[in-house]
Amino acid sequence: MKHPRAHVWKAAAATAVGGVAVAGLRTATGRPVRSAPTLAAAGAAMAAGGLMAYEWLTPRSWLYGPVFWHAQTSERVVALTFDDGPCHPYTGQLLEVLDREGIRATFFQVGNNVVREPNLAAEVASQHELGNHTFTHPHLVWSRPGTVREELLRGQEAIHEATGTLPRLFRVPHGWYGPQVISVAGDLGMRCVGWSVMAWDWDRPPSDVIQRRILHGVSPGGVTLLHDGQDTDAFPKADRSHTIAAVSDIISSLKASGYGFLTLPELMELGAREREPN
Ligand SMILES: [Zn+2]
Repeated sequence: MKHPRAHVWKAAAATAVGGVAVAGLRTATGRPVRSAPTLAAAGAAMAAGGLMAYEWLTPRSWLYGPVFWHAQTSERVVALTFDDGPCHPYTGQLLEVLDREGIRATFFQVGNNVVREPNLAAEVASQHELGNHTFTHPHLVWSRPGTVREELLRGQEAIHEATGTLPRLFRVPHGWYGPQVISVAGDLGMRCVGWSVMAWDWDRPPSDVIQRRILHGVSPGGVTLLHDGQDTDAFPKADRSHTIAAVSDIISSLKASGYGFLTLPELMELGAREREPN
């Protein structure tokens, strides 16, 4: 099934290829490189090519299909999201913090980690929203659609087996949404999700740095990204203590600034409602 912006993407590709062809042909047939039509064709090609590359590598892709990364609203609400779990003992500690604060969040779980910690995955599912974050946490940006499909389906299967839930949300590992990733996720009934603010917490900066980065970047309708686990290969070395230590203070500060907390589906619904004409 084609997404509504397939024609825009193809127009950008045609501009990139056509611009290079025109500029190349004009130069090859002896016309001056600095002539206006040649420069215009080369400029258009570079702009279109640059846009395509940017859209390929951003967690806020627009050109290749819809990726939800924030809701357009002036309401002070935010969706907390956590990736790469479940992971003992950090996910359990995070659940305690969220429970104490009365907050529901959204967890993008890695299938292989769910297989390792099925009970923890089920505990998360009983209180929070779940999303699919693939089975092995690979880079999918250059992968064939078949590989993307297999990663997503294996992730769904693992999560469903452990929790009885079939996620309707998908976040690509590393945040790079190639067009084939968005299209396969859509075919499997999942909405792609990015984020509006993150803290590079996989590098384990001190918790006050994690806190500052999130609070500095947060805005109404935002989606925060933090990590309660680690991708599969690095699993034995996973250490999310700094993130867990930061979460409590992040929540208190946001509450003090008048923020409320929604799950991703709730935030999506709010965004859709505010877009509707009165
Ligand atoms: Zn991840």
